[in-house]
Amino acid sequence: MTTGAVGGEGSWRVAPDPGRPDGRVCGHLPEVTRPAGPPGDGCEECEVLGWAWARLRWCTTCGHVGCCDSSRGRHAYAHHAASGHPVALSLDPEEKWGWCYEDELFLIEVP
Ligand SMILES: [Zn+2]
Ligand SMILES: [Zn+2]
Ligand SMILES: [Zn+2]
Repeated sequence: MTTGAVGGEGSWRVAPDPGRPDGRVCGHLPEVTRPAGPPGDGCEECEVLGWAWARLRWCTTCGHVGCCDSSRGRHAYAHHAASGHPVALSLDPEEKWGWCYEDELFLIEVP
């Protein structure tokens, strides 16, 4: 018998992040699950403004898709600031992680 993984599709843990102290924790881990998909394929706020975006972030709480902090609009951060939703997953195929805005750390999925 094992206990542990909350949620359906694997669990999440804090990723090592060079340059930051070890042993940091994210109290949101039990809430992190992949939202029901598929996600949108663009940042709706940028589309309205006619802005380009770099990468997309997918809110694990509500499924909102917004652009990353390297984008002009930083709409994923704006969504976090407005909603309080803590964690967003990267939608870039090169980036296999989530980001907790409140704790400022990377999360990786454990299969
Ligand atoms: Zn957190
Ligand atoms: Zn945007
Ligand atoms: Zn959200």
